[in-house]
Amino acid sequence: MCGIIGYIGPKKASNILIDGLLALEYRGYDSAGIATIENNEIKIMKDKGRVKNILNLEGYNELQGTYGIAHTRWATHGKPSKENSHPHFDNSNTFAVVHNGIIENYTELRNFLIEKDYTFYSQTDTEVIPNLIHYYYSNPNIDSNGENPDSSYDIVLDNNDSTKVNNTSRILVAITQATKNLKGSYAIEVISPLIPDTIIVSRKDSPLVIGTSNGENFIASDIPALLTYTRDFYLLDDNEFAVITKNSIEFYNEKLENHKKEIKNIEWDASAAEKNGFEDFMLKEIFEQPNSIRETIGSRLKLNEKCNFDDLEISSEYLKNINKIFIVACGTAMHAGLVGKNLFEKLCKIPTEVDIASEFRYRDPIIDEKTLCIYVSQSGETADTIAALKLAKSKGAKTLAISNVIGSSITREADYTIYTHAGPEIAVASTKAYTSQVTLFSILAIHFAELLGYDKGDITINSNGETITLEDFKKDILDLPKKVSIILEDTSLIKKFADEAYNEKDMFFLGRGIDQTVALEGSLKLKEITYIHSDAYASGELKHGPIALIENGIHVISILTDESLLKKSISNIQEVITRGAKTMIVTNQNLENNNFDFVINIPETSPLISPILSVIPLQLLAYYISKNKGLDVDKPRNLAKSVTVE
Ligand code: GLU
Repeated sequence: MCGIIGYIGPKKASNILIDGLLALEYRGYDSAGIATIENNEIKIMKDKGRVKNILNLEGYNELQGTYGIAHTRWATHGKPSKENSHPHFDNSNTFAVVHNGIIENYTELRNFLIEKDYTFYSQTDTEVIPNLIHYYYSNPNIDSNGENPDSSYDIVLDNNDSTKVNNTSRILVAITQATKNLKGSYAIEVISPLIPDTIIVSRKDSPLVIGTSNGENFIASDIPALLTYTRDFYLLDDNEFAVITKNSIEFYNEKLENHKKEIKNIEWDASAAEKNGFEDFMLKEIFEQPNSIRETIGSRLKLNEKCNFDDLEISSEYLKNINKIFIVACGTAMHAGLVGKNLFEKLCKIPTEVDIASEFRYRDPIIDEKTLCIYVSQSGETADTIAALKLAKSKGAKTLAISNVIGSSITREADYTIYTHAGPEIAVASTKAYTSQVTLFSILAIHFAELLGYDKGDITINSNGETITLEDFKKDILDLPKKVSIILEDTSLIKKFADEAYNEKDMFFLGRGIDQTVALEGSLKLKEITYIHSDAYASGELKHGPIALIENGIHVISILTDESLLKKSISNIQEVITRGAKTMIVTNQNLENNNFDFVINIPETSPLISPILSVIPLQLLAYYISKNKGLDVDKPRNLAKSVTVE
């Protein structure tokens, strides 16, 4: 998830591109780069690290070009480095491209282009795009299926210069042919000396807006980045193309039919820029979850197909030899691991233990070459987790890292790595990383089950012995983004509970089975950002001690998503209500006719992955309470985003 910017107009482009990148830097800061046209040649300035590094590059101050494209990267494919920074060139240095998104079939496209004698200079998925454009530009008689097209495109461009019109048409055709081959998500900007004073853009599943003003036009990943320049925007649709000059913007559909588009006038406060209009990063990240989960699923999971983990070379022979899995992590990632344990045990029948990284290391765990150790760290820099990983390696076990940050330390240490692709998480309290980690665990467990040959039988999902097929389970995973969106549509009841509870000193979170793991996560979120003391308990365990703390008016939050445990869990809640507790229930069950104070209904799904849905109201509860208390939601006291000390 990166930020892209473009400018075309009468002014020096470089300054405007840098300003725009700074406004988008929250979207990623692995590297940054700009491309402008100087004396009819593309000039690219790019480097690893922050946007400000570009200012120190040799030749930056000499840039005079009045149009260009720019990118701040959150690396998904290829480590953060100068070579992997955008903009990327094609082999002939004719087309410069910036890209936001992931090209899922880049290996296939790369191989195709290599066969055609193209060379690749980066490890990114992006580099296939300029080369594909070049390929179709150089082979105008080949269509995206590799065949000669029998119809020609009817392109009308608002320009009097006939050479340019021809080139623009030809390049636009080449870009549409190239994008037809792309699987995954992209927002792209393309410039070329062949079409002076023109930028061509397109998008699919990644954001891109065009801001327009008198004699100048702007492009960005989000509106707020441009609010200091204009309030008038075109919101580009999926599979739509725009040819932009300083005085015109022409829109085309994928058949290259020209159409008009409505301008949207935006009344937004420019200061909300980096947060994309959200008050805080945490709220933005909570609301990003439908998309981040979608990115995590990516091309790994499809119905009626085996899972696709081409980034993970674990063989079925190796897995068949494994007699134990350890999942080792800290904080929220450890809570994701608890859900992972259930998945591996239910789907793969491999005994799985979850450990806190800082404990694992010092407790002399029983590990050998028949143990697979999985380490989860959003940042990939968590020192406790890295130390725990080194220990397992020294004992001969294979190690697998799950991280959100490409090239992070843990990914360099581990034998295998898989990425969550959740996009940058900036708020210290983790939200979307958790749901992506659980999503990835669920797909990984299916993958292992397939490798182990357990994919034919049904999966037992609850203590009643109810089963579902693997295909049904895949469908449940694919439906998650939609179901998370439904929960986020109406948060008023959670807000109401927060208004009532925010002055409390203590709270309890209860759950049985998988719901207990969510109780732990809800309680952690509350502690992290509201500074309210809270405890999470297995519902049935409360009566063995902590119930002594329940007194009149105390707030108790319960999660009820497993039908097979419903009756017993309800009895436990009645026990606290009897002692004066106020209750909020998060459930996918029909709980009418009960004496609960607040019932937050969430969509139904398999209990194996219900935490991905039931955690959302708990994230929002902590958020609203923190806001009610006037605290700094994104940067809670004493905490840091990546804990690089043990
Ligand atoms: N997938 C591209 C890369 O890794 C673009 C990532 C982004 O959106 O920043 O370079």
